[in-house]
This record gives sequence, structure tokens and C-alpha cells, in this order.
Amino acid sequence: MTDQNSFDVLRRDPRAERIIRNRLHPLHDTYINTGAGGELTEVRGPSGLLRKNPHNVGFIGPNGIKRIDRLKGNAAASGKGRRSSAAQETLLPLHQVENPDFYVVVVPDMVGGRLTGQDKDVIGQAHKLAAGIEGNGAVLAVCFGQSKEEHFDTAGVDRLLLLDDEGYEGYCPEQRLAALVQVESAYKPPFWLFPDSVDGGSDLGSRLAARIGERPAAQAWQVNNQTSICRGAAGTIDITRTTPRLLLLAQECADQIDETRHEALPVELGSVPTVIAKLQDQGQVAVDPNAISLAEAEFILAAGNGIHNWDQFHTAASVLGATEGASRVAVDDGFMPRVRQVGATGTWVTARVYLAVGISGAIQHMQGIGQCDKVIAINTDAGCDMVKRAALSTIGDSQEILDELMKLVQQFRTQQSEGGDQDAA
Ligand SMILES: Cc1cc2nc3c(=O)[nH]c(=O)nc-3n(C[C@H](O)[C@H](O)[C@H](O)COP(=O)(O)OP(=O)(O)OC[C@H]3O[C@@H](n4cnc5c(N)ncnc54)[C@H](O)[C@@H]3O)c2cc1C
Repeated sequence: MTDQNSFDVLRRDPRAERIIRNRLHPLHDTYINTGAGGELTEVRGPSGLLRKNPHNVGFIGPNGIKRIDRLKGNAAASGKGRRSSAAQETLLPLHQVENPDFYVVVVPDMVGGRLTGQDKDVIGQAHKLAAGIEGNGAVLAVCFGQSKEEHFDTAGVDRLLLLDDEGYEGYCPEQRLAALVQVESAYKPPFWLFPDSVDGGSDLGSRLAARIGERPAAQAWQVNNQTSICRGAAGTIDITRTTPRLLLLAQECADQIDETRHEALPVELGSVPTVIAKLQDQGQVAVDPNAISLAEAEFILAAGNGIHNWDQFHTAASVLGATEGASRVAVDDGFMPRVRQVGATGTWVTARVYLAVGISGAIQHMQGIGQCDKVIAINTDAGCDMVKRAALSTIGDSQEILDELMKLVQQFRTQQSEGGDQDAA
């Protein structure tokens, strides 16, 4: 081991260095792991450089299985039930904008009350544009409807205008447009940014452009403060034009914010006139998830060669309310119809949650799920590509895990309905 005296002289211990170099030495682990949590000690090589031991990953859990702590010891600090990224989020430096000189306004889609991947790309783009303008700029997100989003701060939102009154729920573009017009006169933003998507961004952005008499750039995918490159002719050509004030942005137009935390300070808007809508939204209707086309499904339960009980799989899909998908092997073996195949030669899906059960993650399958927001894997093989792609994985037998999952769902629903009964009483 190394030692440094008060004159900063590096004292070498050749025996310790030998043991550290030799992973098969019986004392190797003792010299590498000395912290209570098994954390790496500082190890200096013969040249005095700090060395890391890449083999010393993880620890043996109580059941004898090797566990890898991706939270790097932050699990306790992160709190129960929080995601690993959440633990890291608290460590990100805070980006503050006091008394902003201007606001770049983003209107995210907030599908299901949460920021989508494209929303986050657009926020990333907003910061790029704000950085290109002189002065202290802040990114203002204008969100409509009930929000379930908990991470506006790490998504890069400096100011948040949450319009969650009843009037903004469901399909109400006229009412939302009235609010945006109000924002326009209150803040006069140098840029208006919308996701160019079917989830509302494209429609609302076009309405605002027409109302304020500005020509928007649609399907913009490479934007700076001077020029924008937009996709045209069904994605076959690129059109370069001067960056307008109103942009409808394609997916992956910019990197998402991942190195800073933002304040997400709430802002208020003066009263917005109530607009009588031409179309009345009567609310959502329950539909058979399997009647929804795979390409449009929000939640897919997909089966692969690791499914051995097909009746149970179909029951699980109906209990979870998921649309069924399948790998090509499951289709070729005759367990699922061809229309259910996900992948390069099947359907390309855009689900918010894709639960892959017993699917290894072959490249042809991965191509089909590239646009999915959250992938969850159930697999016996912890090293398979699907597990690597997934945000959350459960390693074990598909039948047992689906069984347990259904029990939990039923239990949750019973608790919900009992809670509802008590509230009613
Ligand atoms: C030209 C071409 C086009 C293709 N197009 C597509 C396509 O569009 N879509 C597609 O999906 N494939 C496509 N394929 C096939 C693709 O290459 C793979 O063969 C296929 O995706 C594998 O399917 P799978 O993951 O279900 O099966 P496998 O590769 O056999 O994987 C089964 C997985 O299940 C796990 N498992 C086994 N038992 C259990 C258990 N009891 N519990 C939990 N997990 C278990 C295993 O660990 C494994 O990871 C294409 C291939 C070619 C050549």
C-alpha cells in the first residue's frame, strides 16, 4: 500500500504492490478492499499513478449471488423506491438563473402527465438556443393538464408554468392556444419550441404560428440561433433555412440535459379567457388493448422464446391491460400471430413502457423498440442484450415472475377499491 509523509514523498511498498498486481494472491482482496462497504481503496501503481481494479465489481449478497451496486453506495441516501438516476440527480450541480433577461418557451407534450423523451430533447435544444443569445436566459416550460412529472429539474426546466385547471384537460387546443397567446404577450420569448409530434405539439405549435402570424420550421432536427435544418418530403430531403422564432422539433434534435439540475421555479399567468370549444372532449373510453395497433400502443407486454406458459402470458397481458407483442421466434413457432411481431421485419413500436419477457434482444428485435421510452426485461440471463438495454430488469423464470406480478397487481387493485369504498363511506 502507499503512504505519503508530511513532505508528500511517495513511499512504496513493493510487497503490497506485488499482491495488488496478482489477482490470484490469497491476500489480494484484503489489499484491494479495505473499506467497510467494500469500496476501492486508492491503489498506486509503480509509477505513482492511481490505479483502478476493474475486476473488483460488486459484492456477494446474503443469498450467495453476486450483486453489482450501480448506485456506488448511494442507495441508502437515495431513499426507498427511488431510481438510481435519482440518486445521481441530487449530486448534479444546480443551474440557477436569477432575474432572467428573457425566456425561451417550451411547450412539452406531457403524454400521460410526464415529459416524453422528445420533450426532453426539445428542452435540451431550448438551452442551446438560450446560450446563443446575449444575456441571462431561462427555459420556461408551459405544461397543460395534470402533471405526474417529478423530474422537471433534471430535465432542464428553469421556470415552470403549470396550467392544470379542468379547462386544460383532454382535447382542448383552443383553450391551450388562448393561454399561449397570453404567454406570448407576457414574455415575448425569442423562441417558441414545440415537439413536432402527433401527441399535440405539432398541432398546437401550428395553431400558435397561425395566430401570431409567424412561419414555423417543421421537423427541425439541427438547429442553432442562425440556421435550422428541417426534414422535408417525408424525410427524404433536408431543407436549410434561417431559424424562425417558432420551431417544431423532431426527435433527437438536441442532447437532453444530463449534467445540471435546474430550479423549475413555478411562475403564474394572469387569467386566461375561457374559450368555447367547437369539439367537446367526452373523456377517455376503455378499449381492448389488443384492439390498438402495436405501433400506437402505450404499454406492450412482449413474449419471446422464454415464455413456456402461453395461457399465463395472455392472462398477464389482460390483467396488466397491456397490448401483446412478440419476438419473431414466438411468431415463427406459431404461438403469436404475425401482426404481433415487433422488430425490423415486424412493427416498429413507440410504447412508453415495453415489458419484454423471455426475449434475448437480438439486433433485429432491438431495431423495433428503439423509440420506446422505458424498457423492462424479465429474463433468466442477466447478461443478455435486452437486460443491457432495459431501465429495469428482473432476473428469473418468466412464469414465476409473471405470476408474482399478477398477484401484486390484483393486490394493489383490491387495496385501491377498498380505499375508495372507505372514502365513499
Ligand atoms: C432477416 C432477419 C430478420 C429478423 N427480424 C426479426 C424481427 O423483426 N423481430 C424479432 O424479434 N426477431 C427477428 N429476427 C430474429 C432474431 O434474430 C432473433 O432470432 C429473435 O429475435 C430471437 O427471439 P427471442 O429473443 O424470443 O428468442 P431467443 O433468442 O431464443 O431468446 C430467448 C430468451 O429467453 C430467455 N429465457 C429462456 N427461458 C426463460 C425463462 N423460463 N424465463 C425467462 N427468460 C427465459 C433466454 O435467456 C433468452 O434471453 C430476424 C432475423 C433475421 C435473420
